[in-house]
Amino acid sequence: MDLGISGKRAIVCASSKGLGLGCARALAEAGVDLVINARGIEALEAAAQSIREEFGVTVSAVAADITQAEGRAAVLKAAGSADILVNNAGGPPPGMWTDWSREDFIRALDANMLTPIAMMQAVLPGMMDRGWGRVVNITSQSVKAPIPQLGLSNSARAGLTGFVGGTSRQVAPSGVTINNMQPGIHATDRADSLDAGVAKAEGISVEEARQRRAATIPARRYGTAEEFGATCAFLCSQHAGFIVGQNILLDGGAINSTM
Ligand code: NAP
Repeated sequence: MDLGISGKRAIVCASSKGLGLGCARALAEAGVDLVINARGIEALEAAAQSIREEFGVTVSAVAADITQAEGRAAVLKAAGSADILVNNAGGPPPGMWTDWSREDFIRALDANMLTPIAMMQAVLPGMMDRGWGRVVNITSQSVKAPIPQLGLSNSARAGLTGFVGGTSRQVAPSGVTINNMQPGIHATDRADSLDAGVAKAEGISVEEARQRRAATIPARRYGTAEEFGATCAFLCSQHAGFIVGQNILLDGGAINSTM
């Protein structure tokens, strides 16, 4: 399917690895020029080079912390006028509800709620002026079904989801859509480190920890960054203009609900 976005320009935050990289690659395959971002320069430059070679699009790589104002400014400057924005960043650490101070909450809200909101506030006016834009926020299945030990993430991502619910209706008349993607368990570095933690705690191999977790998913496997990216690219396509303010769950059926 021709996604109809060849020649558009996208910012993909936190995209040297994992789900962000999956989104960047799928957009590049559709002919979209990219600004990609991560803090570590080595993996970022490697990702940029392989995308350029494979898909022939223009890729600018901005090594910066997207949760800091200077990092966001550097990414926005490199992008100029962006047609597509994919918001992403690392997730907050796990813990118990008794663990977290006001400062911990502020840090989590900054990274996973206020950072994507600031990026949207920066790019939405231009998109609305030009009459076309696509924003996709990577959130989590935990917005739909809370993961108890991820209280900081549950809180920040729920806040972002509320903002998107209202704002997406305000910008839709200008041809701009905002939607959220809610990943369940996907095979990325983050999933590997969670499995390694379980393996250590329970004295089992990492492979066994992975198999146990996969067995809890009706699809009996982890999701891939490639299929996650393909869904992101579709949401950014010309065909998705009537999808507004939705939360798309990609979890292999893990959350047991009718709707
Ligand atoms: P990942 O494989 O660890 O990749 C994270 C990417 O983001 C890396 O490129 C990393 O590069 C970059 N990054 C992290 N913090 C950043 C920051 N402050 N500024 C700029 N770049 C940053 O993680 P993932 O699995 O793709 O997860 C992506 C998001 O989805 C996270 O918020 C995670 O909580 C959420 N999620 C993931 C899953 C899953 O199963 N994978 C499930 C639910 C939710 P640097 O470290 O070099 O900056």
